[in-house]
Amino acid sequence: MALLSDKIVVKVGTSSLTYKNGKMKLKNIEALCKVLSDLHNSGKQIILVSSGAIGVGVGKLGLKKRPDDNAQKQALAAVGQCELMFIYDKFFGDFNNLTAQVLLTADDIQNPERRTHVENTFTTLLNMDIIPVVNENDTVAVDELEGQHIGDNDTLSAIVASLIKADMLIILTDTDGMYDKDPSRYPDAKRIPVITDITHSLRTVAGGSGTNRGTGGMATKLHAADISMKAGINCCIMKSDRPERIYDLLEGKDIGTFFNAGGKNDRT
Ligand code: GLU
Repeated sequence: MALLSDKIVVKVGTSSLTYKNGKMKLKNIEALCKVLSDLHNSGKQIILVSSGAIGVGVGKLGLKKRPDDNAQKQALAAVGQCELMFIYDKFFGDFNNLTAQVLLTADDIQNPERRTHVENTFTTLLNMDIIPVVNENDTVAVDELEGQHIGDNDTLSAIVASLIKADMLIILTDTDGMYDKDPSRYPDAKRIPVITDITHSLRTVAGGSGTNRGTGGMATKLHAADISMKAGINCCIMKSDRPERIYDLLEGKDIGTFFNAGGKNDRT
C-alpha cells in the first residue's frame, strides 16, 4: 500500500555527495535532483536537507584533508555551501524546478519567535512551489558555542520534518538501512526492514546516542528517526546510490529500514 507522502523531507550526507577527494559526485547529485523534481512535479512538497558544505569546500580548495581548526572549517563551509547551491540550482533548474537556500542554527529552532519565522518561511517557499535546500549555518554555528550548534544534519532533518509537519523523512546514506549487528564486523548481520519501537538494544547496535556528533553515523540517524517517530512522522534510512528507489519506498515496498510512526501508513 502506498505511503502518505504529500510532504517529504529528504536528507543526504557528505559521503553521498562527494568522492574521497572532496570533488562532487555529479552523477548521483543529478539523479537525486531528477527524482526530487519528478516527485515535486507530481504534486508533492519536497525539502532537501543537504550536508556537504565543508566537504565540498575541501574539494574546491584542493586540500588534502578536512582541517581540525574551527575557523578553517567555517571558512570552508562558506566556500562549499556556495558551490553546493550552485550545483543544486543548476540541476533543479535543468528539471524546471526552483530551489532556495535555508541555513539554520539551533537558536532559530529554540527561540519560539524565530522558530515561527522559520516555519513561515518554509510554508511560503513550499506554497511558491520551491524546493528548499537546508543546511546548518556552519559559518556561525560552532561546537564551542553552547546551545547554538545542532551538530549533525540527521538531527537537523528530523527537526525540519517536525517543524513543517512532514509525512515522511527519508535519510539517504551509504548503507541500506539499520542492521541487527555491525555489518562491517559480522558478515551474517541482517538488515532490519521495519522498526516500530526504538529499543535499548537498537541504540547499542547503532553505537549509543551522542557518540557521533557531526559525523552522521548510525547513532545520529537513529536519534533522527526517534525525533521523527515521536512527532508522528514515518522515517526511512536507505541507500543513496539509486535515488529512484524512493519511488519503490513510497509505493510501500521493502526498502532500507522503515521506522513506522503508527497511524499514517500500513507498512508493518
Ligand atoms: N553541516 C555540515 C556540512 O554541510 C554537515 C553536518 C553533517 O554531516 O551532519 O558540511
